[in-house]
Order: sequence, then structure tokens, then C-alpha cells
Amino acid sequence: MMEHVIEIQHLKKSYGNLDVLHDVNLSIDEGQVMTIIGSSGSGKSTLLRCINLLEIPTGGTIAYRGKKILDGNMNINSYRSKVGMVFQSFNLFANKTVLENCMIAQIKVLKRNKEEARQIALKHLSAVGMEKFAQASVTTLSGGQKQRVAIARSLCMDPDVLLFDEPTSALDPEMVGDVLEVMNSLAKEGLTMVVVTHEMQFAKEVSDVVCFMDKGYVCEIGTSDQIFNHPKEERTKQFLSRYM
Ligand code: ADP
Ligand code: MG
Repeated sequence: MMEHVIEIQHLKKSYGNLDVLHDVNLSIDEGQVMTIIGSSGSGKSTLLRCINLLEIPTGGTIAYRGKKILDGNMNINSYRSKVGMVFQSFNLFANKTVLENCMIAQIKVLKRNKEEARQIALKHLSAVGMEKFAQASVTTLSGGQKQRVAIARSLCMDPDVLLFDEPTSALDPEMVGDVLEVMNSLAKEGLTMVVVTHEMQFAKEVSDVVCFMDKGYVCEIGTSDQIFNHPKEERTKQFLSRYM
């Protein structure tokens, strides 16, 4: 039997007495693109943040390639280099150059030397169309350019899985296409990805699995065709009717 890349069982998360995730069960397989859709407040970011250990679940288990990540034996920095995250708000170092942003974690976490880190950074910046900006300060970039740099920075860590939390939601509409194009090509190259998004056309085209979340539950999960063309649950139909 093939081992799942990520396997989530009975995941629960509460903030005080607010229950945000209830018994979430999901598995993500090698090379899969899973998109997570659902209304604001349904727990999508909390789920990704639990997978990335930015939040500690209240209950349940998360396994990465068969190893439970919550048992305290995991080195968080090396785990996050394998299971990377791209944020809506980019989270770049504002006072550093594009190239520096892509080199720092390679040197600190992966212990690469500077020249190797530089070469790898330039390779990934080139793949996202940002190599010309290597020496630019991050503050001079547009939102779409910042997000492409943030993706390149994550790729520099040789991730096994990339998590994306609404990577295009903070962008001006004319910038969205460039970022989705980069994500599309990563998907085609076979990168395992979990993407929270409101870009339904993108989700429909790129997803192997679509997970519709509602009020902290996985309401419906299936292939792109099942969810977008033949949704079963009333709530899924209602949600999609607002977009399509
Ligand atoms: P989504 O990403 O689907 O919009 P979130 O995971 O951000 O949903 O939020 C789900 C619920 O959890 C919301 O009701 C939100 O207000 C609440 N929540 C999220 N983060 C926190 C936090 N750090 N403290 C308290 N409540 C939170
Ligand atoms: Mg969110």
C-alpha cells in the first residue's frame, strides 16, 4: 500500500470554547493537487496552519510520510522546509533584497554555502520570471511580484509539499494570472500541493481532489468533476452557485 504524504485523522482545533475544526480526516498523496474551498470562517486557514505546525491541534493526528508530527520529536524548521507554506500576505523580509529573501533559509536551515544558495535562488527566481529583480529591494515590487518571489523562496527549500493559503487574494486582479500560471506549472511538474483558494476556475482545472469545507467540517470531497459538475451536498451547491 502506498503511504500517504500527509494523513490527517480526527483533527480538531478549538480556540478557547470556539470549535473551529471538527473531526477532519484527509489524506494527500504524492503528486496530488488538493484544493480547499469554502466560505470565509470555515476553518481553511486553521487547517493549513495545523499542517504547518503554526497551530497546535486540540485533538487528532497528522502524519507526514508515516511519521506523526505532533509527538514532539519533529524539528520544526526542517519539517517546514519539507512542508512549506505560501501565505496570502507573502511574509517576505521587507528590508532585504529578493535574492537575500531566497537565500537566508537555505543557509540557516539547509546549511548550504552562500554560492550554492545563490545559484539555487537564481534558478527558482528564473522559473517564476523574477530573476531580473534579484538585486531589487522587496519594497519596490508589486504584490504579484512579491508572491512569485515568495513561491521561489519556498521552492529553494526543495519542498516535498507546498501549502498555499489564498495566494492570490491580496493581489490586484491583473496580477492574479501570473501567480496562478506559476502554480499551474508547479502542478504540472508533479509537486504535491494543498491550495486554499477562491479562484474556482483554477481549482476546477488544476485539482486532483477538491475539498469543500463548511463550518469546520469537510462537507464534501471528491474529484474536480465530482465537486464542480456533480456536487451532492446542498451546501456545496449553494456555495458554488455564488461563483459559477
Ligand atoms: P478561513 O480561512 O476558512 O476563513 P479560519 O481558519 O481563518 O477560516 O477561521 C476559522 C474560525 O476560527 C473563524 O471563526 C475565526 O474567527 C477563528 N479563528 C481563527 N484564528 C483564530 C485565533 N488565532 N484565535 C481565535 N479564533 C480564531
Ligand atoms: Mg483563511
